[in-house]
Amino acid sequence: MKKFILAIDQGTTSTRASLIDKEGNIFYKSQQEIKCSFPHDGWVEQDAIDVWLSLLNVVNDLLAKTNLNYSNIDSIGITNQRETTVIWSKLDGMPVYPALVWQSRQSAYICDGIKKYETLVYDKTGLIINPYFSASKIRFILDHIADGQKRAENGELMFGTIDTWLMYKLSNGKIFKTDVTNASRTMLFNIKTLNWDDELLRIFNIPKILLPKVCPSSHYFGDATFLRKGLKICGVAGDQQAALFGQNCINKGDIKSTYGTGCFVLMNTGNDIVFNKDGLITTIAWQIGDDVHYALEGSVFVGGASIQWLRDQMRMFKDAKDSEAYAKAVDDTLGVYVVPAFVGLGAPYWDDDCRGAVFGLTRATTKEHFIRATLNSIALQTKDVIEEMEKQSKKKIPSLRVDGGATSNSYLMQFQADILGSKVIMPKNLETTSLGAAYLSGLNSGYWKNIEEINKVHKIDREFIPRMTEEEKEEINKKWKIAIKSTRMFK
Ligand code: ADP
Repeated sequence: MKKFILAIDQGTTSTRASLIDKEGNIFYKSQQEIKCSFPHDGWVEQDAIDVWLSLLNVVNDLLAKTNLNYSNIDSIGITNQRETTVIWSKLDGMPVYPALVWQSRQSAYICDGIKKYETLVYDKTGLIINPYFSASKIRFILDHIADGQKRAENGELMFGTIDTWLMYKLSNGKIFKTDVTNASRTMLFNIKTLNWDDELLRIFNIPKILLPKVCPSSHYFGDATFLRKGLKICGVAGDQQAALFGQNCINKGDIKSTYGTGCFVLMNTGNDIVFNKDGLITTIAWQIGDDVHYALEGSVFVGGASIQWLRDQMRMFKDAKDSEAYAKAVDDTLGVYVVPAFVGLGAPYWDDDCRGAVFGLTRATTKEHFIRATLNSIALQTKDVIEEMEKQSKKKIPSLRVDGGATSNSYLMQFQADILGSKVIMPKNLETTSLGAAYLSGLNSGYWKNIEEINKVHKIDREFIPRMTEEEKEEINKKWKIAIKSTRMFK
């Protein structure tokens, strides 16, 4: 009987289930959108029950459409939106508050109150104090439900990121675990000792009993008995880490960028914990057995979203893919630079307060130039993050592996290669997040014998070779830096 790994990718906007075969191909994929609510400015919430039901829907749909059943599944790998915080009651397994999504900023005031611990927090977690991470979100929920602190201390409540929540439900309440990658995004986990950190727990006044057990990413977590007795969950990782693994970035120095709504760049730093105070965060890439890999990470807030903005607000075209033909219709941007700092700038600038800007307009500027300059801005922001990584590792990166929706734009990918002066490599299977979760699970279950076997199944589709002259590159870089600087001054 043919067996597959069931990869569950629970993202911010949708839940996907895929069946992945031994050759690393997606046999079939099922997807369902999930809703976010925005109760106040800057608040982003989800219903954790909706998230759980969406998982059941996509898995059912997958099996129905393929005419397969659970006996065709070797094991389950889960990857998830990171940092999103769920707290539920131990008594009935029901959430006690909406899930606070990673982007949500209602706990900003809690972060402001603990700024004095910045160095301590950074040294232990590799993170900057920001409402993005789970700790202040947990504090917020405990402060906004009746007797929250008391119930947490009495062991009546459970906290989990989405992986923990889904495993809890899938196991009928038996599994209360997370993996190191998800734990490393809570701001409560010491990435050196690989334990929940008592000092951090004290700072946030969070009782340890609320937290799940932390396990390696490739590990037998327990059984998804809700689906079928004996169906094993053997892999868990946060989405960006899963993508790094799914891109086969398994060696020190390997680097990937995901081009979705935002852009997420991760560089594998091997077994070394590399700290970078110039705008990158340090995180756990994965743990397999005792082998822990770390990564440097930089996120660009507005990547593909700038193309949505051209489409929906500027009404320049009907479909994101049209941007490519427009960009290619002209030879350059005619000196136009777009800085899409719609919500401030992420890594390596971390400037919350600046807003978007356009430079270099003339009477000759056309829509084509504007579109081309906006696409360039996605690659230029990514380059800024990679430049920081190169400074840190004192090495030029030979190549960048890419995935995400906007990689379908070959103008963008070529410009990325040009401006980096490094090769851009696109895998055949762009669903690298699901692939990563599947690889982690299959490695533990024995579906794949070892990483070398996975190496063999990983296929490359296209490569973009840099072809811009040094002078051209320098000129664009120089102007771009001025554009960033000026944008940050306009407040
Ligand atoms: P997410 O997982 O963040 O929802 P996806 O990986 O699905 O994102 O990618 C969607 C993003 O990619 C959108 O912001 C969209 O504007 C952008 N995008 C999709 N196709 C193209 C294209 N051909 N050129 C440029 N951007 C694109």
